[in-house]
Amino acid sequence: MLVKDAQEIWGEFVGLLQKKCSLAEFQNWIAPIHFVESNDSDIVLEVPNVFVQDYLLSNYRHELVSYFPLNNKGEPSIRFVIKEPRRDETVSEPVFIEEKKEIDSKYEIKLNLGYTFGHFIEGPSNQFVKSAALGVALRPGKSYNPLFIHGGVGLGKTHLLHSIGHYCKEQHKKVKVQCITTEQFINDLVDSLRNKTVDQMKKFYRNLDILLVDDIQFLQNRLNFEEEFCNTFEALINQNKQIVITSDKPPSALKLSERLIARMEWGLVANIGIPDLETRVAILQYKAERKGLKIPQKVAFFIAEHIFNNVRQLEGAINRLSAYCGLIQTEITQEIVETTLSELFQYVPQKKVTVESILKSVSSMFNVRVQDLRGSNRKKEVAFPRQVAMYLAKELINESLMKLASSFGGKTHSTLLHSWNKIKKQLETDETLRRQIQMTKQNLES
Ligand code: ADP
Ligand code: MG
Repeated sequence: MLVKDAQEIWGEFVGLLQKKCSLAEFQNWIAPIHFVESNDSDIVLEVPNVFVQDYLLSNYRHELVSYFPLNNKGEPSIRFVIKEPRRDETVSEPVFIEEKKEIDSKYEIKLNLGYTFGHFIEGPSNQFVKSAALGVALRPGKSYNPLFIHGGVGLGKTHLLHSIGHYCKEQHKKVKVQCITTEQFINDLVDSLRNKTVDQMKKFYRNLDILLVDDIQFLQNRLNFEEEFCNTFEALINQNKQIVITSDKPPSALKLSERLIARMEWGLVANIGIPDLETRVAILQYKAERKGLKIPQKVAFFIAEHIFNNVRQLEGAINRLSAYCGLIQTEITQEIVETTLSELFQYVPQKKVTVESILKSVSSMFNVRVQDLRGSNRKKEVAFPRQVAMYLAKELINESLMKLASSFGGKTHSTLLHSWNKIKKQLETDETLRRQIQMTKQNLES
């Protein structure tokens, strides 16, 4: 295999995946993989960790097989190398100092009891972050440092942060862990300035083995506090003490000093995305069960379809249902859900879906032009997305087949029905297509 050829093929392969997966999936799992070299027998790819390697092999095996030469076992001939940590200073083993005296109760770690790894439901949107968090909890200071977790509200950032805290407290008993919100850090600092105990505070934070900081976005526009935080951060990281930070934005989008942003980008920056429908249903069922609530699967899907961008709201829905059904001792049905949760559903933007909006969404998902989707070109690159658009139109728009078909540049209703059948069948086995369709739907709703 010529080096240039292999590299080009890798480039094409990455291009293909970029079209196939969501932005979050691509950034978390694919973008960190780098082509290193190729020789007669295999190509060498660099991955940040073994999770990324497993992810690629288990989710895109089929594509890998069609792009790359195979070895004698019929597997793609790829050799993976794990990326060395970016900082080239010699990384010494972190030393965990045994606690000598009782920690001032002010500094006692407070963790939400329910926020443990065991209670965290995994799905494609959060698998990567969960693995990274677990990696940090297993080997604090030795895997990714700092670990920076970012994502929207109510998606489980605090849950994972506390999970690391719980795990470390239980498994590494001698380790000094603190988990604080950024506001708490600021308040501590204000208090200690007032009480002239800043040195004590500094000593406390700088003696930690693991510092877990929630919601760093609140440090924006707090210049003096930022400086103190940055000093603490550096003091810890220079001793290879573990830091984990959560934020609603990636480091580069935060209005913080370049110095701090660069520090936060040193380790692993991981995005936690919106859970897909199946994961939302799994979370819903898990939480309902813990409350002793039985939700029929169909109703669970109905709720999860209407509350889709925030897990906290899903919990709110369960609390309401539990209160309501406890009061009147009844089974949960779709009607009850509609009555008790209608307010929560109101916040869901209910845009009217039209053939036009479907075409736009499909066009950007599959990278084809709207006019081609309406046209009659039968090349697979165009015909397939067209069939997807027809499928979605029949699924989402309450109109006659004839009317829908005519909006596709005057097709017949049997063409539309044929496309719908074909895609429906393919969806039973094609995970990638399922994900693409889900993304397209989400796009329509946003
Ligand atoms: P964030 O900090 O990102 O705003 P939280 O961690 O506070 O979100 O999560 C909001 C609620 O949703 C919490 O009660 C948390 O337990 C729950 N939650 C979020 N993601 C998951 C998940 N994947 N599995 C189980 N519960 C989750
Ligand atoms: Mg939070």
